[in-house]
Amino acid sequence: MAQASTGQLKDQLGARIDSLRPDLERIGRQIYANPEIGYEERQAAGWLSELLRRQGFSVELGVAETPTAFVATRRNGSGPTVAFLAEYDALRGLGHGCGHNLIAMASTGAGIALAEILDQFPGRVQVIGTPAEEGGGGKIRLIQGGIFQEVDVAMMFHPDTKTQVLHWALAVTHLHFEFTGRAAHASGDPEKGINALDAFVLAYNAISMLRQHIKEGARVHGFLIEGGTAPNIVPERTRGEFLVRARDEAYMQELVQKVKNIFQAAALATGCSVNLSFGEDPYTDLRNNGVLARLFEENLKRLGIDPVEGVPWENAGSTDMGNVSHVVPAIHPTLAIAPSDVAGHSQAFLEASGSLRGYQAMIDAAKALAMTGADLLADPSLVENAKLEFRRA
Ligand SMILES: [Zn+2]
Ligand SMILES: [Zn+2]
Repeated sequence: MAQASTGQLKDQLGARIDSLRPDLERIGRQIYANPEIGYEERQAAGWLSELLRRQGFSVELGVAETPTAFVATRRNGSGPTVAFLAEYDALRGLGHGCGHNLIAMASTGAGIALAEILDQFPGRVQVIGTPAEEGGGGKIRLIQGGIFQEVDVAMMFHPDTKTQVLHWALAVTHLHFEFTGRAAHASGDPEKGINALDAFVLAYNAISMLRQHIKEGARVHGFLIEGGTAPNIVPERTRGEFLVRARDEAYMQELVQKVKNIFQAAALATGCSVNLSFGEDPYTDLRNNGVLARLFEENLKRLGIDPVEGVPWENAGSTDMGNVSHVVPAIHPTLAIAPSDVAGHSQAFLEASGSLRGYQAMIDAAKALAMTGADLLADPSLVENAKLEFRRA
């Protein structure tokens, strides 16, 4: 395809997304004003499905036995399948303090615009609604449900304080613990008690010591949900949750074993019993696909946006997009919506996610995503290159 016509095509995509802006912003604001936590995003999934249906997509709501997950598809002939992933879950107690309202609409807008060039370049465009990113692992359920089997590339953006194409995310798993001891009068019969709070304190201190001897970038952090019932009763039960993170899943599992040993040792030392469990499958680290990243970067620059280089692993969190990136070539670039001193999951980030700057970033992201999709549909050898790099990794 000639350069000039690619340019024209991208201008058309940009103009189409501008024309979609009122719808995208309206629904983005609705999602923002009606935050729903993981697996409860019935309204968000409904609004997105309705918009996509109106735009000619066939929408299957409730895929992978998950009522708030969906797959919206438009296809023409056979060609690559380009998927844009829409997150829309909120944070418990903080609403859209992670800006998933913007992710939802950027991916939806990109999908709608890109699908309109399928008459020129055969293939398939999907918008995949992925619930419960903030714990719950919605994308893992969709992977297990086979939703990504026919996807060639998967893309999304995430709002941030930096505009950066490559993103580093840690593998993470959630460890739930419960110590059980024996209640007793803390003054009258202390010798008859078995103190479950002591077990927790021992474990907590041992984890703090472990932290000095773990690899760069790994993280272990947690909290106590239940620490006893009254000061004059020896605490019979303590329970809580720890997160174990590392730069790759293998080392994360190594750390998990060390943390499990600590809990067992604390139980032994105090005479408690301990029950350890994992809430969901681990999130894996995120693999950036270089082919997709380069295309996305060119398209950002085309829009007059200059991304920063990015320091690997700086301020790294975790995302279930990591799991997707181990199944298909993927990118998870970020666009700035707030100054660099703003923390994620904060009141200030919540405000940024509902701001004009936030909705502008949503539009810019939708354009860059759609343009990257156009590159891939217009030249399927780029998809092959992305897959080649994926297989080598
Ligand atoms: Zn978040
Ligand atoms: Zn997020």
